[in-house]
Amino acid sequence: MIRPAELIERKRDGGELEAAELEELVLAYARGDVPDYQLAAFCMAVWFRGMTSAETHALTTAMVASGETLDLSPLGRRVVDKHSTGGVGDKTSIALGPIVAACGVPFAKLSGRGLGHTGGTLDKLESIPGLRVNLTHVELIDQVADVGLAIASQTADLVPADRRLYALRDVTATVDSVPLIAASIMSKKLAAGADAVVLDVKVGDGAFMKGETSAIELAETMLELGRRAGRAVVCELTDMDQPLGHAVGNALEIREAVEVLRGGGPRDVVELVLAAAAHLLELSDLGVTEDAGRRLADEARTDGSAFAAYERWITAQGGTPGVEALPVAPVVRPVPEPRGGYVVRIATAAIGRAALHLGAGRTHTEEPVDHAVGIVCRAKRGDLVEAGGHLADIHARDAASADAAADEVAACYEIGDEPPAQRPLVLAVLR
Ligand code: URA
Repeated sequence: MIRPAELIERKRDGGELEAAELEELVLAYARGDVPDYQLAAFCMAVWFRGMTSAETHALTTAMVASGETLDLSPLGRRVVDKHSTGGVGDKTSIALGPIVAACGVPFAKLSGRGLGHTGGTLDKLESIPGLRVNLTHVELIDQVADVGLAIASQTADLVPADRRLYALRDVTATVDSVPLIAASIMSKKLAAGADAVVLDVKVGDGAFMKGETSAIELAETMLELGRRAGRAVVCELTDMDQPLGHAVGNALEIREAVEVLRGGGPRDVVELVLAAAAHLLELSDLGVTEDAGRRLADEARTDGSAFAAYERWITAQGGTPGVEALPVAPVVRPVPEPRGGYVVRIATAAIGRAALHLGAGRTHTEEPVDHAVGIVCRAKRGDLVEAGGHLADIHARDAASADAAADEVAACYEIGDEPPAQRPLVLAVLR
């Protein structure tokens, strides 16, 4: 018989919990047999005391066991997946999936909606007219078999313990705990069934993890969970001290992802997509080297096969693949730079919040998003902008919100007389 108070007390006092105890606690909570207030106290004890690697593994396994898991073995090949801890302007998965599929590697991803200043892949995809994200598990597997890829919403029966626990952590100041984040992310990745996963841990002002030390700790914890579960995992630490690419906002980001799939697109988005694709192709049945994977992925972008895979994918999910069908905002307003100089810093989380205020994001889960609006950051860190030049464009529903966002975005740019030090986009790769 479970005694949650005893487990909370032991964790509070720095003791270690047994795997069976954690399993019983999580499963009882998922069934509704343990109240929120006890799990909240437990999460706070973990926040202060941390977890051993064995405890984090047991917590993750219990969370996976709280619901259904996806069996992708009928596909008969190694299936790959990708996860990002969330950033501003991160449209990587939308370009990555079709590129990997065009190289003959099945890609299956369950994704979430955005909350706060970071956007969600599902919201971006739903800016495509007609596109359906609520696929059943059978539909998802059939679609991956037919067109090589699918990105769909996580169904309610997959890791139900995480859904309850994440909402509870959100209101009890216990989200930013490495073992709790690692268990939350990895339980969903393990339940979603892929054999190989690239994890992109964003680091910087626009990310969850503001500093490299905590990002490395999270990456190593997730790698260990992958290892224990027998999955191939590569973890990249990547820069989120400026928006990724230029576009921030749902339909605007789809346009940018399509540019990448047609052989163009911003340099940083291309670099990140090719880096992730190279790792996935390396871990797939192709078994190529990372360099060969990067070459294959780049060829798919330039020979038309990646865009053809995108068209097949979007059509299979009921959407219209042409960018002409995407919604456009009625008001487009430039953000001028009065003084001129180098872009030294872009307050990235504040750019995300400006997009949120325009309607591109949501602050609570039920809020609708406006798919057309957003920001195009024309000037990026290190760029030289002339006086009277152009920092960004605001895409807004009306003039008043455009004016407000233009002021917010102007305040995000720090302009100086000297160019800033260069910062690599991929800060580290952990295996
Ligand atoms: N993303 C998740 O899925 N879970 C967390 O705990 C944090 C970020």
